[in-house]
Amino acid sequence: MSVANTRIYPINTGWAEADLGTYIFFKGPGGQKTEIPMICFYVDTGEHKIMVDTGIPDAERATRYHHKARKADCLDSPDALLKMGVNPDEIDICIFTHLHWDHVSCMKRFRNARYIVSAAELQWAYNPLPLYYRSYESPVLGIEAPFVGCNFEVVEGEATIVPGVKVFPTPGHTPGHQSVEVETEAGTIVLVGDAIFTYRNFEPNMDEHWRYWVQQRFVSMIDGWRSMEEIDRRADFILPCHDAKVMEHPVYPYPGMPLRKRREPIPGAPFYFAGI
Ligand SMILES: [Zn+2]
Repeated sequence: MSVANTRIYPINTGWAEADLGTYIFFKGPGGQKTEIPMICFYVDTGEHKIMVDTGIPDAERATRYHHKARKADCLDSPDALLKMGVNPDEIDICIFTHLHWDHVSCMKRFRNARYIVSAAELQWAYNPLPLYYRSYESPVLGIEAPFVGCNFEVVEGEATIVPGVKVFPTPGHTPGHQSVEVETEAGTIVLVGDAIFTYRNFEPNMDEHWRYWVQQRFVSMIDGWRSMEEIDRRADFILPCHDAKVMEHPVYPYPGMPLRKRREPIPGAPFYFAGI
C-alpha cells in the first residue's frame, strides 16, 4: 500500500538572506535580516519518485540576480538526491508549487520526469507583471529561466497526480500557486510551497488579532489569506520551503510527529471565510 510506504525527504539547496519586514511577515520588523533555507522535497510513494520543486542554483547566480546566498554544505537538488542513493533519472514526476527562481533550478536534470504546474502559473511565469521579472528570471534581465523550453502538463484546480498525492490551488503568493497534499500513515502532510514561508506565518499575531501572521510577498492578499484557511482545513502537518525547522528531521512522517488540529478556533483571532 503506497500510503504506508510514502516518505517525504526535505532537501535544503542553500541559504539566502531575507528581510523580516518586506518579506517574511506582513508589517514585520523591516530592516532586520534573517537567513532562510531554500528547501525542496523528494517524495517516495513506493511506486513513484516525485520531486516537489527543485530548489536554488549556485550561490553566485542566486546572489547576482536575487538575494545574497550561500550554499554552505548544501548541494543542488539532483546532487543531494545522488548522495541519498537516488539517481535523478529515476524521478518520474516533478510537481511545481510555482515557478519562482528558487523553486525550479536544475529542473532539466530530471530528464525523465513529467513536469506538472498550474495553467495560471505557467502563463504568468512567461508574462509576469514587471515587478516579478526577477522572480521568474525574465529574458529582459539577460538570463534564461530554468523552465524555458520545458514541456509542462498543466492542471486547473484540484487534481490527483498519483494515488495519495494531490495538488490544490493556493493562490496569493502568485496567481497560480498550488500546494501538494500527501497522504501518509501519520495523516495528511501538505507541502505548502511559498503559500507559507515559515511555521510562524501560520500562527496568530495576537497584537493585531490576526489568525495568521501572513507573509509580505503576495500578488493578492485576499487570495493569500483564503489559501491559509484552505491549508488549515486540510493539513495534519505542514512543510514550508523556507523554515530551518523542517531540516531538523531527515524524513517525514517520523515516529511521534505531532499532528496539528485542523482549523482550530482561537478566541480573538477569527477566520475570515465561511464554509472552508
Ligand atoms: Zn516564491
